[in-house]
Amino acid sequence: MALTHYACTHCGSWILWFDTRKPLYCKNCMDVRNALPDEDFTYIHIDAAKEKYTTQWQEILPGLWDFSTSPQLGLGSHGWLIIREGGNIAFEAAPHYSQAALERISELGGISILAASHPHGYGALWELQEAFSPQLIIHKNDLEHTKAFKVNHPIDDFEQLDEQHVMVRMGGHYDGQTALFDAEKKILFAGDALKIDFDENGEARALSCHKGYHYHIPLTPDELRHYQKVFSMYEFDHVCTPFEFGRNVSQKKALALVNHLLQTEPHTNPVPLKTLLS
Ligand SMILES: [Zn+2]
Ligand SMILES: [Zn+2]
Repeated sequence: MALTHYACTHCGSWILWFDTRKPLYCKNCMDVRNALPDEDFTYIHIDAAKEKYTTQWQEILPGLWDFSTSPQLGLGSHGWLIIREGGNIAFEAAPHYSQAALERISELGGISILAASHPHGYGALWELQEAFSPQLIIHKNDLEHTKAFKVNHPIDDFEQLDEQHVMVRMGGHYDGQTALFDAEKKILFAGDALKIDFDENGEARALSCHKGYHYHIPLTPDELRHYQKVFSMYEFDHVCTPFEFGRNVSQKKALALVNHLLQTEPHTNPVPLKTLLS
């Protein structure tokens, strides 16, 4: 029986399943860190997804490209492409890459290293893997979520990719949640270690942390202290989550949030930057 890929239309996760019948359920939506669909699960076969979805891209900083899918599929993750001497790094993935998007990535030099912070950023990693055969790096503690693609480079808590790029485990939200720090661009690709609320001008207005967003499950003090340790290690000016570019969400602001949360009752509410920086 042939296997194929279906996307859960609620969250956008890809599921490797039998070609002749739809998946039984979406593991990602069943998890406490995501919501269930309002009614039943619905899935889209890869062949139908190719018809329905297109992929956009833009260079948001010199050498950093943002890929996304429209109309929105599931949670609407973004894939980041870092142009690098010696081979590009793709971190997180959009929910679908059109043929034109794959050709654009080829023109930009392809992908040598493919990685993601945690399952909410996996998007269509499998499409990038099939197209470019990169090293595919995921933290060993999140391997149970990777059935839709093939991890060929599981990592421990710290992995130096080159002089400018390092991956470090954040944990918390997912046990294997892992950030990527780009020292050249001063960006922390932080996974969902930070959630950013924006104002009408697209400026960061408030920050929050959670273990589970929909159920409002806060992080524990030890998890917050680990975020604090990682944020302290890297001087970043901006953050990229699997969903957005947090321009000017700096190390100072991220540390102010964690320090604030360590002094309050556990919660997942957005804390205005005005409060944090006062
Ligand atoms: Zn789902
Ligand atoms: Zn997440």
